[in-house]
Amino acid sequence: MKLSLGLDDVDSREGSCTTYVASFIVEGILKAGCKLLDYPNLIRLNPNIPWKTRGNGAVAIRFEAEDAEGVFELAREVVDGFHEEGSDAGLVLLEGEVPAEVKEFSRMALHGVLSPKRALRLIERYGARSYSIGSGLGLIGALASIGNTLQGDYTFELLAYRRRDRWGKERLVDPKSVIEMDVATRPYTFNNYDEETGRILITPRGPDPVLFGIRGEYPEVLLDAMRMVRVMEEIDRYMIFRSNQGTNEHLRFRLDLGRLKAYSSGYVAGVVAEKPKIMRGGHVSFRLRNEDGEVNCMVYEPTGRLRWVAMALIPGDEVEVGGGVRKRTVKNPTALNVEYIKVLKLERLFKTENPRCPRCGGRMESMGRGQGYRCKKCGFRDREAKKLLREVDRGIKEGLYLPPERAHRHLTKPLRRYGLEKSGFDGKLINGWYKF
Ligand SMILES: [Zn+2]
Repeated sequence: MKLSLGLDDVDSREGSCTTYVASFIVEGILKAGCKLLDYPNLIRLNPNIPWKTRGNGAVAIRFEAEDAEGVFELAREVVDGFHEEGSDAGLVLLEGEVPAEVKEFSRMALHGVLSPKRALRLIERYGARSYSIGSGLGLIGALASIGNTLQGDYTFELLAYRRRDRWGKERLVDPKSVIEMDVATRPYTFNNYDEETGRILITPRGPDPVLFGIRGEYPEVLLDAMRMVRVMEEIDRYMIFRSNQGTNEHLRFRLDLGRLKAYSSGYVAGVVAEKPKIMRGGHVSFRLRNEDGEVNCMVYEPTGRLRWVAMALIPGDEVEVGGGVRKRTVKNPTALNVEYIKVLKLERLFKTENPRCPRCGGRMESMGRGQGYRCKKCGFRDREAKKLLREVDRGIKEGLYLPPERAHRHLTKPLRRYGLEKSGFDGKLINGWYKF
């Protein structure tokens, strides 16, 4: 029997801990002699929901087993064992193929906002088993992770975990080796470090059990990359996940500027309507307009160089932007928090200049409206002379612009991945994809 087990929010602090708990469930499932049908799926959901942790990630495990009840009990025990005060753990076990309605639920969890009630309705309708602690919010991610079977583009992440006695202590990873690993494996790994500042990105900074996470295109390259990273502490366990990270999956749908819903994500194309403004704190804002309406686009300070692209825009430029909708408040109108800018068509910019003197080459000056021009140097007059238009270099080119790596969200598709998109998965798992 084919089974899908989804889990979310099994830890209160860091999203990545859900993957750690998942590794223990996978270990138990494998020990019970069940066959995994896929790498565990690490599914990132709508990153623009303010009450979720930054990661907003859930895990789905897909496998074959005879004893569904037994597996569910096992998973529940593991989740209870890791439960911490304040978390909203959710666990869902679904038998058989994933119904279209659950897939649709998952799509909505990437772009919009969903309620636990809606998750419960589907759980009931399809006879899934569920278990939740706290508010039941975890059930949304648990069900949504089951519904995203990663049939479109996907990537992999190898997550290596620390021994419990190291949690909260400094991570002993040699930064130089990370940069060497990046050079040796590019373009098949990504977001290893921030090219602008040199900051290492594979190591999280919280007290969670993750030592490092390496993202890339294939499981094989991740195993190679792991061996290249020099660590001065023990890797307690590791596991490779298949994921929608780095795919821009949350930005697939077009936003309607006439009806922007708070916290929704997507992309929209239009024309820059006003000169961009730089604001307090170094943020940049510009107005974007199309046939449906108009919105304020916000390019925040942490997005680094992306702000300079925004500042270089002028009214009339055609751009596409992707991002999340910020809720309107008393102080601030609805806005779009920009995650990328694609300059589709630059408006040509001209400067007017007085003509040059045909006799001496000096600059001429106007003798008054419709009166022609006179040379300042030699006095030559020309009643027919007209102002010249000279095209000004815009300083930016048409194309795609992203924030620096350090400001990428889990779902942000890095430049390196363009052209490496995949579809379809053959269900084969390589040797050594985990160590427990
Ligand atoms: Zn002259």
